[in-house]
Order: sequence, then structure tokens, then C-alpha cells
Amino acid sequence: MTYRAEYIWIDGTEPTREVRSKTKILADGDTPGIWGFDGSSTNQATGDNSDVVLQPVFQCPDPIRGGDNILVLCETLLTEDMSPHPTNTRAAARAAMDKYGDQEPWFGLEQEYTMVDPATQWPHGFPAHGFPGPQGPYYCGVGAIKIAGRDIVEEHTTLCIEAGLAISGTNAEVMPGQWEFQIGPADTVTVGDHVWMARYLLYRVGEIHNVEISLEAKPMKGDWNGAGMHTNFSTKAMREGYEAITTACEALGAAGKPEEHLAGYGIGIEDRLTGAHETQRYDQFSYGVSDRGASIRIPWQVAKDGKGYIEDRRPNANADPYVVAALMTNTVGEALAS
Ligand code: ADP
Ligand code: MN
Ligand code: MN
Ligand code: MN
Repeated sequence: MTYRAEYIWIDGTEPTREVRSKTKILADGDTPGIWGFDGSSTNQATGDNSDVVLQPVFQCPDPIRGGDNILVLCETLLTEDMSPHPTNTRAAARAAMDKYGDQEPWFGLEQEYTMVDPATQWPHGFPAHGFPGPQGPYYCGVGAIKIAGRDIVEEHTTLCIEAGLAISGTNAEVMPGQWEFQIGPADTVTVGDHVWMARYLLYRVGEIHNVEISLEAKPMKGDWNGAGMHTNFSTKAMREGYEAITTACEALGAAGKPEEHLAGYGIGIEDRLTGAHETQRYDQFSYGVSDRGASIRIPWQVAKDGKGYIEDRRPNANADPYVVAALMTNTVGEALAS
């Protein structure tokens, strides 16, 4: 008898990486080992030296195929010396975890996304050649006029739970056709693994319903909210006292740090971080309690309890969770270690 392993990896598409996958059929009792692919077709190699190695790093049940079938997330390695491929961002997340893992970093990522009609390239739920009513009723809305695509969200959530991913919630967003799921709390490497797996499952559910999933940061210009990936973060010290919370916020605002972080927070940052639509401008840094117009928000409950976590509101929906988590772990980790 056999089962199927879906090998999943992150490609080299510019400016925003895409998920790729292919299927391996295994005999019962065999485990998924290293494999490879044609990197010249994924912007990861040239044709004359095209092989890239797939190294399995995280696996879970395949809730779409069911049975004994599995999903296998892989790192990409160079054939020459089995070192991380230049597009392998998980390696940096591992390094951050090795360095500051003893601080017990936790992440909760809020992945926003937009459902798009493949034929019209227009958001799911927008009238075919026009616009819906202005923003206001859609966020966490209920009812057929306000909501489109809830069946897809429900299906995706069930698949994430069946796969054992750390999905912690979902909600309809401010723009029609825009939704969010949250992954966490999980450590620097695990949160990236689970976000990429959850993205994969979302694209697959989209195929079934003929809806394209877009992670574009500002899919509709004008008076429509963009799509972000708010990054909630804490360390053990932050979960135990307020001083570490303040230290973390100050470290994120230190000279050079806002620029360094924004460079890893996704494509189209200037289009989304305008200072309007619940964002701080990309060229300004601020933090504050309950402030959705700040770069970093301290939730009111955290201020009240005098401990907890902070929310970095800047990452775009199209950011790489490994890159975001590594930056955060290193910047805050370094400040808290000294
Ligand atoms: P918002 O109010 O900004 O919409 P959400 O409820 O969407 O917030 O997301 C909050 C996220 O923060 C969840 O993924 C949750 O797991 C995560 N979270 C909660 N506590 C912590 C913590 N101590 N450290 C890191 N993340 C946390
Ligand atoms: Mn949220
Ligand atoms: Mn949101
Ligand atoms: Mn948020």
C-alpha cells in the first residue's frame, strides 16, 4: 500500500515569494526523505545548474486528502554543500531561535488576505463593474450584503485544525472580500512553519471555490483598508513585567531599527503605511497603549495587567513570517539580553 506526501516549499519569485508543491508517493512504512526540484523554473537556479534540494523540516496530516497522507514543509538547500539556499529564510529564523530561544519568544500573527475573482481580478463580493458601499459595516459583519466568502473561511479553518496548526481565530475585515486568520502563540520558527502551511491550505481551498487568494498589501487604491500581518510578540520577561515591554518598544524605535525592520516587512510598505486606515506612516515610529495609529500598539489589557505582549502593526500581508519573526526576535532579544 502507499500514501502521498505533498512536499511544500517557498520559491524565489520576486518581489514576493510564492508557495510551490509537488507530490511524492511513498510505500507504507517509508518516511519522506530529502528530494529535489528544478530551481530554474522557480527563480532559484540557472538552467545549467538547476537542482535544488528539498529538506523536510515540518510535517502534518494532509487534511485535504485525508487518510495517511501528509503535508511536508521543506527548507531549500544548495546541492554543493547542503547549506541553505539564498532564498531560504527559515535558516535565519532558526539562527535567531538558537541565539535567543532561552528568552522564550512567542508570536501571534494576524494574516490578512483578499479573495479575488480570477475572471475579473476584482475582490470577491465587489459588484462586477463597480464598488460596494463605503467601509463601515464589513468588519466582523454578518449577513449576505456585507459578507462574501465565509464558506471558504470556514472550510480553511477546519482544515487548519485538522492539520494541527496553531490557528487561534478568524474574522471578516474592514474591506469587503478581505479576511483574517491568526496563528499563535508559537515560537520564532514554528509560527513561520504554521503560517506558510495555513497559506498553502488557503490557496488550495481557493482552487476548489475558484477564488484566488491575494496577499497584496494594498489591493484597492483609495479609501479601502490595506492587508497587513500584525505581529504580536512577547518574551518570558514581557509576559512577567512591564519594564521588558517598554524595553522592547524602545529597542524597535532605536536609530536604524525602523528602516531595518521595514525592509523585511513586505513589498508595498509605503502604499499601506500611509498614516490613514489604522496605520502609522512608514517614515515615522511610535508606540502607545490601544493606539491603532501607532507603529507598535500595547493592548489596553497589557497596560492594565502590567505585563503581556506588544503588537507590531507594520508588517504587510505579503511579508515572509520567517523574516519578520527573526527580525523581532533579534532586535528585542538583544535589548533584553543586555
Ligand atoms: P487584534 O485585536 O489586533 O485584532 P487578534 O485577536 O487578531 O488581535 O490577534 C492577537 C494574536 O496575539 C493571537 O494570534 C494571539 O494568539 C496572540 N497572542 C496572545 N497573547 C500573546 C502573547 N503573550 N505573546 C504573543 N502573542 C500573543
Ligand atoms: Mn486581528
Ligand atoms: Mn485585522
Ligand atoms: Mn491586530
